[in-house]
Amino acid sequence: LASWQATYRPAFAGVRLIGFQWSPLSHELKDFLSGYMVGYQWLDFEKDAEAAKLLATTEYGPDDLPVVICPDGQVASRPDKLDLARHLGIQVAAKQELYDVVVIGAGPAGLAAAVYGASEGLKTLIIERQTPGGQAGSSSRIENYLGFPTGLSGAELAHRAWTQATRLGAEFMAPQEVVDLCVKDGYKVLTLSDKTEIKARAVVLTTGVSYRVLTAPGLDRLSGAGVYYGAARTEARSCSNQPVYIIGGGNSAGQAAMYLSTYASRVFIVIRGESLAASMSAYLIEQISQTPTIELLPHTQVREACGGNSLEAVVIQRDGQEPAKHPARALFIFIGAKPSTEWIGHLALCDAKGYLLTGRDLVADPRYGTSWKKEREPYLLETCVPGLFAAGDGRAGAMARVASAVGEGSMAIKFVHQYLDE
Ligand SMILES: Cc1cc2nc3c(=O)[nH]c(=O)nc-3n(C[C@H](O)[C@H](O)[C@H](O)COP(=O)(O)OP(=O)(O)OC[C@H]3O[C@@H](n4cnc5c(N)ncnc54)[C@H](O)[C@@H]3O)c2cc1C
Repeated sequence: LASWQATYRPAFAGVRLIGFQWSPLSHELKDFLSGYMVGYQWLDFEKDAEAAKLLATTEYGPDDLPVVICPDGQVASRPDKLDLARHLGIQVAAKQELYDVVVIGAGPAGLAAAVYGASEGLKTLIIERQTPGGQAGSSSRIENYLGFPTGLSGAELAHRAWTQATRLGAEFMAPQEVVDLCVKDGYKVLTLSDKTEIKARAVVLTTGVSYRVLTAPGLDRLSGAGVYYGAARTEARSCSNQPVYIIGGGNSAGQAAMYLSTYASRVFIVIRGESLAASMSAYLIEQISQTPTIELLPHTQVREACGGNSLEAVVIQRDGQEPAKHPARALFIFIGAKPSTEWIGHLALCDAKGYLLTGRDLVADPRYGTSWKKEREPYLLETCVPGLFAAGDGRAGAMARVASAVGEGSMAIKFVHQYLDE
């Protein structure tokens, strides 16, 4: 029995994804599955003998990769995320005509708003364009969120919150992007990218921020094929025993460096400044300094990403020195973020950087007098449109912390009640 136990490997029962390691679509699908914490087996067609055998049992060939095989036997070639979500049983369309509150964006702020909205009896829908968790979902380890003394991954935190929100009765719809919002007959009418419309009495914008894109030769072409924004968790395994580079000196870069150091042979952190002190938490700086495989490259910039089908090297340049080419299996970019508010700017007032103005900041803005039409002043998290609230990182003055986003998302529901009672 002991020898059988030592050698027996039960057949994998979850989703199986067959593809080429450096295909951007394979990367997107892996990221999507990880974001929903779906257990999946990745089979690299070029390296894994089982991949070809498994593919032969389907109607597809190598030209159709990536191919997803679901536990119920359904097979999909090159599925987009919406198709994959349908296969996984994720809700992709609204079930009702009208909601008390629709929350846009399922980062920590949106998930908290959904938990409070549903638990307080509001008909609540939360819409997410990617995966639950937002920026926090891409964090490999959150160590400062209250109640988790040994830390937890952002995906796990998001999964817990998503489960909690749906258990309490919120509808979670994804991957769907809200592209427009208008006010008609006293209702907020949201338009999704597939032109579907959804009606709500109140809306909470928790759209957060998205990664800034870096421009340098090769970066765009190799994006998803060795060059990644966030995604350290998804791609860490593919970097085993290889050198990787990280651009950025914030906490997100620091967490990624620590996580990648358990796989990669060397991790180089490229920053333009002198040190991490001004931009990274002390606990991470300490962890990094005690990890011999991580090296900080100050006063340095990445000039080019090189490679055929995938990243093979980066050209980096230290101030005052000539550019030099170094082998690299992956480059992870964390150079800050911008608010995801372009689509709503025609309706809600934003500051010069695109962050949504609410409450007192709105009242202090010179455009307040012409944009706010109610006799009462806006509630603390209310935008210039009554009943349209903003919470979390996309709001002007937000703190860019998981805990503060969660706090604001919860508070927003309090104001939704006050607005609905008017
Ligand atoms: C890698 C990383 C590590 C971090 N680690 C920590 C940490 O350890 N501790 C800490 O306190 N903070 C940490 N932070 C910061 C923290 O994650 C953020 O402050 C927090 O996630 C903000 O939450 P949010 O809900 O406001 O926005 P976000 O997390 O940005 O979420 C916004 C969500 O809205 C969705 N969305 C945007 N537009 C639309 C649309 N039009 N339609 C539908 N959906 C839309 C996005 O896809 C996204 O999921 C980290 C951030 C990063 C990037």
